Amino acid sequence: MTTVVIRGGRVLRPDMTVDRADVLVDGETGTIRAVGDVPAGDEVLDATEGLVMPGLVNAHTHAAMTLLRGYADDKPLDRWLREDIWPTEAALEPADVRAGTDLAMAEMIRSGTTAFGDMYFYMNEVAEAVEAAGLKARIAHGIVTVGKDASAAQDDLEEGLYIAKSHDGTADGRVRTAFAPHSLTTVSEEQLAAFVPKARAAGVPLHFHANETRDEVDPIVAERDERPLAYADSLDMLSQGDFLAHGVHLDETEMGLLADRGTSVVHCPASNMKLASGMAPVQRLLDAGVGVALGTDGAASNNDLDVFDEMRDAAMIGKLAAGDPAAVAAETVVRMATEGGNRALGFDGGRIEEGAAADVVVVDFDAPRMTPVHDYVSHLAYAATGSDVRHTLVDGRVLLRDRKLTTLDLDAVRERAASRAADLVDRAG
Ligand SMILES: [Zn+2]
Repeated sequence: MTTVVIRGGRVLRPDMTVDRADVLVDGETGTIRAVGDVPAGDEVLDATEGLVMPGLVNAHTHAAMTLLRGYADDKPLDRWLREDIWPTEAALEPADVRAGTDLAMAEMIRSGTTAFGDMYFYMNEVAEAVEAAGLKARIAHGIVTVGKDASAAQDDLEEGLYIAKSHDGTADGRVRTAFAPHSLTTVSEEQLAAFVPKARAAGVPLHFHANETRDEVDPIVAERDERPLAYADSLDMLSQGDFLAHGVHLDETEMGLLADRGTSVVHCPASNMKLASGMAPVQRLLDAGVGVALGTDGAASNNDLDVFDEMRDAAMIGKLAAGDPAAVAAETVVRMATEGGNRALGFDGGRIEEGAAADVVVVDFDAPRMTPVHDYVSHLAYAATGSDVRHTLVDGRVLLRDRKLTTLDLDAVRERAASRAADLVDRAG
């Protein structure tokens, strides 16, 4: 099965117009071969009453945190991490991470996500899981050295570098890597100064949390008398290809720095609202020329991995933050979830056109919630949910056909995740 024709639907073009067209994708080359009147393929996917659009990108998550979905809610970030999340994560075993990542990928494929940016632990398991499920991911071991002795800290930094070096470009290029100090406050200046050059030498980008809450920004400013991103820049942590999560509390100089350096921001609106972190200045970032992508963050602070939800949240909170209903418009959030995400993660998806990567989803427009259709892009941003996704393809390979997963056994995945989650909580006491 090398070619697939997606027939009978409408197509979202790169200029955000929609017209009736079929799409031929090539599973051998992983690209879109033709859009319009296309020749027959080896397999046909029905797209009647559907819209063919680029796959969505979840550019910042901690996939295996699905195991902690609903475990602890309604607390401030710092207390939530210290009292609930970190103690439980300390009891994680590799098989937990595999089970949680498989569950996350089942959810993501079913809701139209074709690539994700992951930062977590036991990333050898994650690389294997991504390879088997058929998704694309830029993965990184999340490094936290605060509170560790010198030797444990060194091991953690080395693990981050080892993961970045050993998996980049595997799974036919579907798995890429990053070097990921968890944040500017959880890894020391000396450690960053020693290891960022090693990541640069390995040719992998940086992925880290930054400027998420005031409680994180204020101590850096008080201690160093400079903004967090000026500090990051002094350590060579802002370059083309790097991406940081959140960017909620940024001043004008920091936005200018991000634009100058070509570093993307992954906006995580649901997580920012749930943890009351604040409202990221998304329209101002876009106006400054910063690349903005969307992320769900981990399932424990969201609590789902549905990028359609994230588009709607981004549009809503973006307007509120700007005090302007014209800010962060429908077309803008659709671009953030597609082109913006691919740019942040360094993948060549995000466009339905000949020669582009065949990361494609078909969204049903026949639900009552989606009727009538005055404007397809409006529905993608404001009305659709992940459950409207009918087909998902990555590199031309069908991962979801008529709402049924082809590479993951959903019942087995759910059962294993539920049982590992129960064991994990027991072990953590
Ligand atoms: Zn995060």
